Amino acid sequence: MTYDGPTALFIDGEWVSAADGETIETVDPATETTYATVACAGESDVDDAVAAADGAAERDAEWRSLDPAERGQYLAAMADEIEELKDEIVLVESHDNGKTPFEATLDVDMVIDTFRYYAGFTDKVHGETIPVPGSRIDYTRREPLGVTGHISPWNYPFQLAGRSVAPALACGNTVVLKPSSTTPLTALYYAKAAERVGLPDGVLNVIPGSGREAGTALATHEDVDHLAFTGSTGVGKSIMEYAAEDVSGITLELGGKGPNVVFADADLEAAAKGCHYGIFMNAGQMCWAGSRLLVHESVHDEVVDRVVERAESTPLGSGIDDDGRMGPLVNESHRDDVLEYVETGVSEGATLACGGDVPDDKQTGYYVEPTVFTDVSNDMTIAREEIFGPVLSVIPFSDREEAIEIANDSPYGLMAGIWTKNIDVAHDTAERLEYGMVSVNEYPVTFPQTPFGGYKQSGFGREQGTEAIREYTQVKNVNINV
Ligand code: NAD
Repeated sequence: MTYDGPTALFIDGEWVSAADGETIETVDPATETTYATVACAGESDVDDAVAAADGAAERDAEWRSLDPAERGQYLAAMADEIEELKDEIVLVESHDNGKTPFEATLDVDMVIDTFRYYAGFTDKVHGETIPVPGSRIDYTRREPLGVTGHISPWNYPFQLAGRSVAPALACGNTVVLKPSSTTPLTALYYAKAAERVGLPDGVLNVIPGSGREAGTALATHEDVDHLAFTGSTGVGKSIMEYAAEDVSGITLELGGKGPNVVFADADLEAAAKGCHYGIFMNAGQMCWAGSRLLVHESVHDEVVDRVVERAESTPLGSGIDDDGRMGPLVNESHRDDVLEYVETGVSEGATLACGGDVPDDKQTGYYVEPTVFTDVSNDMTIAREEIFGPVLSVIPFSDREEAIEIANDSPYGLMAGIWTKNIDVAHDTAERLEYGMVSVNEYPVTFPQTPFGGYKQSGFGREQGTEAIREYTQVKNVNINV
């Protein structure tokens, strides 16, 4: 299939080429062939996009002065347009990223729901009155931040861009979105939808470009008031340094090394199913992947057998013209990095229960077999580092204390799972896990209305739900001495 979607930058309501004519060539990870060529923003394009967003964020500009309910109608119309474009976006996402159409559909549906959720929020963003001494009137206002920059990763290109763009717009901010140069295509569909609904010029700007040039230019730009960054912990640390220069706001959604803790009383079939899904969905390229399976020693072998059986029977393929349920990794170098982690696991003494290689019948496309390691200890590299691929590390535990200790012994703290029928164990363990999100008896799970974000080196700030409204507004206190 050839790509016939948008290929230009979208700045100030216009489709434009990059000032220096640079382009990005994308490769379909399932076929290893060129799929599309799109404009690649450089520093001057970032300046233009930020200037457009800055103008549209002015107090007397159309967007800021809109009745909040009308702003909500724009968001609802965006959701409708995305729904209209859904089949196209799903296929483009599959060819650009390698995820199956089934997985891409989940992403697009989540975005549609997110825009609808925030469409209903625009006229509910309000401050409060505060009792103070005397006859004064004291109140707070929740005001927009101004220009928000959004830098998104390649693993959920469409969904994660929409996750931060929707609440930012709902709160009356303007947006410059820079998707990953590895998967730049579907972000451009936000521009397409914005154009179709007649969003005022400059409110939403989309500029695919490299992290090194466009990403740094956006993150260091003095006219960007808040940067929503989703990506690796390493780059997240650089974003913190940039933000320190002009004390601007940031939201950091970073890496993870999620533990799924299976207690002896769990429904073992449900646990095996959830743990399999939690690591092999999206070929394991998930910040919230359940990449460590902590399992009680009394049910260890049974759970491992069930997970391995599922792993070995997962059909690999793009899912576009075959029945593939797990697609390829995003590109060759990432595939090679994942295979290197497998070698490290073996050399550090873990046992390969299944997988660990390129599948014999998938020499074209960047596939890796669903891989399960047993005999893993939590100090091994494969248990500590984010592999970002279909590699599961199984670690046995003997009691709840030990399970919690192993689960919390990680630099990351994004999402953890608990599998038990005992509600006391569920509550106690949920409280003691140092994770921003904990899910009991299903994994992974999130909704537009629930906060998404991590503890420790998984970042700070929250996307989704009412928490994101706090991220994308600033509070002003007004005191009136009457
Ligand atoms: P990455 O950090 O390499 O890149 C993310 C984005 O940052 C890309 O758009 C990239 O172009 C840009 N970038 C790179 N260097 C930059 C710089 N110096 N300044 C500004 N921008 C720069 O991450 P990735 O490989 O695209 O994505 C995978 C990572 O993202 C994983 O660590 C994963 O856990 C994390 N992630 C986190 C969440 C979450 O919600 N917590 C969600 C998805 C992915």
